[in-house]
Amino acid sequence: MRFTDTRNRNVSVSFQQAIFTGLAESGGLYYADKNPDLSQLFDSFTPQTSFNEIATATAYAFLGDELTETQVGDIVQSAFHFEPKLNRLGNNIILLELFHGPSLSFKDFGASFLAASMEAFLGKQSRHAVILTATSGDTGSAVAQAFYKKANIDVVILYPSEKVSPLQEKQLTTLGENIHALEVRGTFDDCQRLVKNAFGNTNLKKSLNLTSANSINLGRLTAQTFYYIWARSQLKTPKSEADDLTFTVPSGNFGNLTGGVWAHLCGLPVKKFIAAVNANRVFLDYLETGEFKPQPSIATYSNAMDVGNPSNFERLLAIYESVDNMRKEIESYSVNSRETIKAISSAYEKTQQFICPHTAVGIVASYLHLKKQPGKIVSLATAHPAKFADLIEKVLNITVPLPTSLKKVQALPKIAEKIDADDEALAAFLERLK
Ligand SMILES: *Cc1c(COP(=O)(O)O)cnc(C)c1O
Repeated sequence: MRFTDTRNRNVSVSFQQAIFTGLAESGGLYYADKNPDLSQLFDSFTPQTSFNEIATATAYAFLGDELTETQVGDIVQSAFHFEPKLNRLGNNIILLELFHGPSLSFKDFGASFLAASMEAFLGKQSRHAVILTATSGDTGSAVAQAFYKKANIDVVILYPSEKVSPLQEKQLTTLGENIHALEVRGTFDDCQRLVKNAFGNTNLKKSLNLTSANSINLGRLTAQTFYYIWARSQLKTPKSEADDLTFTVPSGNFGNLTGGVWAHLCGLPVKKFIAAVNANRVFLDYLETGEFKPQPSIATYSNAMDVGNPSNFERLLAIYESVDNMRKEIESYSVNSRETIKAISSAYEKTQQFICPHTAVGIVASYLHLKKQPGKIVSLATAHPAKFADLIEKVLNITVPLPTSLKKVQALPKIAEKIDADDEALAAFLERLK
């Protein structure tokens, strides 16, 4: 299978090229403009088919001309020591829980699969790579966990000193081994600038084989198809709920939703996608007006969705080609903070379950859709509630238990190197990894 560039359809690259390049040369994003019809494969999955079997068969359909089925199976085994789970919330909402991975958010699926794929390709060629990334807190931990102890790869994560939460800092700095945390005396913008300048330094980039692992990477998107396919296979019996499912996706950069759309393009039957957004509603405005107008982001409780210029919009537009086509398959609802809080309380009152604010935005959107169109809906649960324990405890006045992984991390010593926010300081650190 080949992949093209949203800004230049003459481009044709392999999966390997796409994952190591990240962003296409034009500044566009890689995606598949021709997809295999996998509907028979998807139909063959049953509730007994494991997540890893589904991931292997699906990934092999994409990567079959670059890797053997055994190699793909090994990547999947190395990536996924965790699974999604289905969980009912009332009669009509099925939560697809994607937060059982090492950093407790859905981003673990994409990051782990990307890490394992890179390790496999580098190993085949005895090459080494350095992953360089900046984080404002949350996204870095999925990358750190995913690449931990991967052979032939060093990861350098820049974060702004004293501007991430204590727990986030622990998640970034306690792994050690091939994960190097750099505490930058500066802001998140400084961290991003340093990373950008390092990639702009051709010498450094070539000699270290500098690579990014951010959320637009095609390798991450690939894994974000698997759990939609798995959810459908799980719902096939006893009485099939699996025909024409509707999925609600709490969205920020729209990478998660684009994964679902990709699965659908390959033949997964889906009635509708619901893009649940918070006050950052440029996508909803686009569906309503046909105009895409990026905005500065607005801070909300569901902060991983505070995005004013969703990066995957470009992929969605390349896929659908027009707002009319997009409207046929995607609906969007914007959910405010009062509704978000109310959903957190009412989920607890009704079912004694804690839900994170991102998941809550999705649930409100699911109910809004169900009012118009009764039926069943699969609502994606994107982060573990314990990651947002402060907020939930304030709303419910009840202590949210921390999973053992988070408790353990809190007790470990921080290993980070403090650097000034300048290019030389970063370059000097990177030289040491040669
Ligand atoms: C990143 C994130 C989202 C948004 O996902 P996108 O792919 O950017 O749309 C939603 N919820 C949580 C918890 C996240 O970490």
